[in-house]
Amino acid sequence: MTPPDDRRGRQRALVGAMIIVATVGVLVAVGLSALRLGGITTDLTSIRTSSDTVASSNREALLLEQMVTALGETTDGRAVAVQAGLLQRQLIVSAAAFAPDAAPARELRDVQRVLAAFPWDELPATGGHDDPRRLPALALVMGAERRINAVRVEQEKQFYLATTAALEGSRRSQLGLSALVGLVLALGVAGVTLVTSRSRSRIARAYDALKGEVGERRAAEDALRASEGRFRSLVQRASDLTVVTDATGIVHYVSPAAETLLGHRPEDLLDLPLLVHVEPDQRAGVGQAIAFLAEQPGLVHTIELRLCTRDGRVRTVEAVCQNLLADTDVAGLVWNGRDVTDRRALEVELTHQARHDPLTGLANRVLLLDRLRGAPAAGTTVAVILIDLDGFKNVNDTLGHPAGDELLRSAAQRLLGCVRPEDTTARLGGDEFAVLTDGGPEVAQTVGRRIVEALRRPFGVAGHEVRIGASVGVAHGDGREAAEDLLRDADIAMYVAKNAGKNRVEVFEPAMRVRAAERTGMQQELARAVESGGIEVHFQPIVDLRTSRTVSLEALARWRGPDGALVPADVFVPIAEETGAIMEIGRVVLRQACRAVQHWRATVPCQRHLGVAVNVSVHQVLSGLLYDDVVEALRDSGLAPSTLTLEIIESTTIEDSERVAAEFARLQAVGVRIAVDDFGAGYSSLGFLIGLDVDTLKIDRTILEFDATRRGSLVAAIAELGRTLGLTVIVEGVETPEHLAWARQASCDAAQGYHFSPPLPAADVPRFLRTSGRDVGQGGVEDGQPVVDLGVGSGQRWGDAEGPAHPG
Ligand code: C2E
Ligand code: CA
Ligand code: CA
Repeated sequence: MTPPDDRRGRQRALVGAMIIVATVGVLVAVGLSALRLGGITTDLTSIRTSSDTVASSNREALLLEQMVTALGETTDGRAVAVQAGLLQRQLIVSAAAFAPDAAPARELRDVQRVLAAFPWDELPATGGHDDPRRLPALALVMGAERRINAVRVEQEKQFYLATTAALEGSRRSQLGLSALVGLVLALGVAGVTLVTSRSRSRIARAYDALKGEVGERRAAEDALRASEGRFRSLVQRASDLTVVTDATGIVHYVSPAAETLLGHRPEDLLDLPLLVHVEPDQRAGVGQAIAFLAEQPGLVHTIELRLCTRDGRVRTVEAVCQNLLADTDVAGLVWNGRDVTDRRALEVELTHQARHDPLTGLANRVLLLDRLRGAPAAGTTVAVILIDLDGFKNVNDTLGHPAGDELLRSAAQRLLGCVRPEDTTARLGGDEFAVLTDGGPEVAQTVGRRIVEALRRPFGVAGHEVRIGASVGVAHGDGREAAEDLLRDADIAMYVAKNAGKNRVEVFEPAMRVRAAERTGMQQELARAVESGGIEVHFQPIVDLRTSRTVSLEALARWRGPDGALVPADVFVPIAEETGAIMEIGRVVLRQACRAVQHWRATVPCQRHLGVAVNVSVHQVLSGLLYDDVVEALRDSGLAPSTLTLEIIESTTIEDSERVAAEFARLQAVGVRIAVDDFGAGYSSLGFLIGLDVDTLKIDRTILEFDATRRGSLVAAIAELGRTLGLTVIVEGVETPEHLAWARQASCDAAQGYHFSPPLPAADVPRFLRTSGRDVGQGGVEDGQPVVDLGVGSGQRWGDAEGPAHPG
């Protein structure tokens, strides 16, 4: 690309060259035409000169002719000769005006010779008019005159032609000149236009720039004016309050916002102290702030004012005040205030939300930890009471989350009823609560026990009466330990309470920490064992009290630990329930038990009646997977469904549970039987029994541990109840012949316990089955078949190879 400066230079040079060429051309043309005009002028001058002399000759000839014509008696002969001489002399002059050999010159010289040959002086002066010589003389003169005239006409014709040619030439040179001049002018104009346009564009640019600058300045001024206007109207209309006071706080100006903000008309506030509208308990502070501000010229200070409105409310106004006393325009303290009442309320609300449990309104973990960290001075005793609800999950699972929420709210209210107002009661999440109190260890334990009692009472939830329990752990500190450590210790104690049978209070001891660590280790090991097939099944016989035959086997899970020792179910099942491992354990036990029993029914003599009982966790039932697992285990083993009994621990929290009932109904529909386990251990509920429509009732072994006077009658009462409901009644924990006697007295259908057999490894079961009828009790056995109809309906309560067909 050619730079613009180069291009402009070349254009300029080109225009200059054209002007020079045109000018030279014009000069040459003017010169040539001048020369030509000069020539024409010379020609014309000589023609005119010759023409003039010829005309003079003509005139002399005419005079001579007149003299000859008028020749008379009085005519002086000598005067005619003189005239003839003048004519001859004029003819010589005229001929001299032409080139010597030119035709006119020759013609004139010839006329002169003819005239000269006549004897003009001989014309008689006396003869006069009648003189014989007069006529030839007249003819001669007239001839001469005719010939001179012809030359003169020819000369005039010449002059005309020359003049016309000169005029034509002059016109043509004028035209050429005009064209050249026009060209030069055009070039000049072009050059001038170019130059002027250049300069004009430069000027235009400068003008535009100037105009832009002016525009910008005007826009800036407009913006300034607008912003001033805006500012003015903002001050006038904005919700922000603008107040100007003097150095003592007397109001001199108030913006109209005062009306919406405080309910006062601005003019009503004038000339009164600002402090009048400040909330009384803030007045002293604001007064000091005004005094301080008034002494510091230019100082800007932010203060939150609580201003009283006309109708007695208090608005929080965030005010920025500036000392403009020195500013002559303002001469005051300027207060710009914004109503932040709603914002502050929201902040308080958000802060509250961040530190409180939205469901119960109690403190949350954050606030509890804050109080734990902040409250106690070193040396003061603090106690954390940790409360975990027992059975809450089942309420949630069976009655739904809204019912669960309702229960948590009620539980929170009961907790608050157990503590002092200055204690912090918190919900830590789920069904876990905590209380922070500064009472001593005894106080904390008392509060803990009070809480257990309070939560033990039934709750009315979603139209149901619901019972839950609470496990409580207490940990003490003297303000030196970390808040988190104290909370963790209380948590450990709470777990101990839960494992020790729930509904109790445990106080933390360092040894518990060791056990808690073991527990965590155990959870991990159990998870590994479940994965690697480390769960095996033992079988405990259930004995028909009339025939003394083993009619069924209860499958009990066993965990062979890393050291090869067997871990009993009551140690690891609660852990498995917590971690969810119970789901897989339940599946493993179900499958193994069905296979083993079906195998013994087929291989051990007289065992075609043998049934199997498998414990199922409430998690399995509520997971919705139990039905499929059962059907799969039956199909896999080939066991008849009526041979299988599922044992579910009686739980207060699943009373009236529609889901549990529906799940059991599905299973019962295919022939599987349902037994309520551990009846009498917890919150025995007739509603539960009736609602679930179960087949078997297992009386918990703790009933047999009751004092001697009550246990027999209790067993009898429960057995009676079961029979009334049409259930098969089994008593558990029969350890002694005495226990067996009570069971018989109470007319229980069957019994289970160490008296007959502990749970046996699978390998020991066939031998036991072969000998059982002979070793235990006095019941008769006929050909390996139970002789008594133990139940209602079918008459085959313990299993039947010919039971209902397999589902699916
Ligand atoms: P449970 O269903 O009541 O099982 C009977 C428990 O009592 C067994 O303890 C058994 O060993 C024990 N026992 C039997 N006879 C006597 C006796 O005469 N005296 C005393 N004191 N105890 C006796 P185990 O095997 O430790 O099981 C404890 C609990 O663990 C079981 O109570 C059952 O609720 C649960 N459990 C065991 N296996 C499973 C299982 O596979 N799945 C589920 N979900 N729970 C299981
Ligand atoms: Ca059981
Ligand atoms: Ca039991």
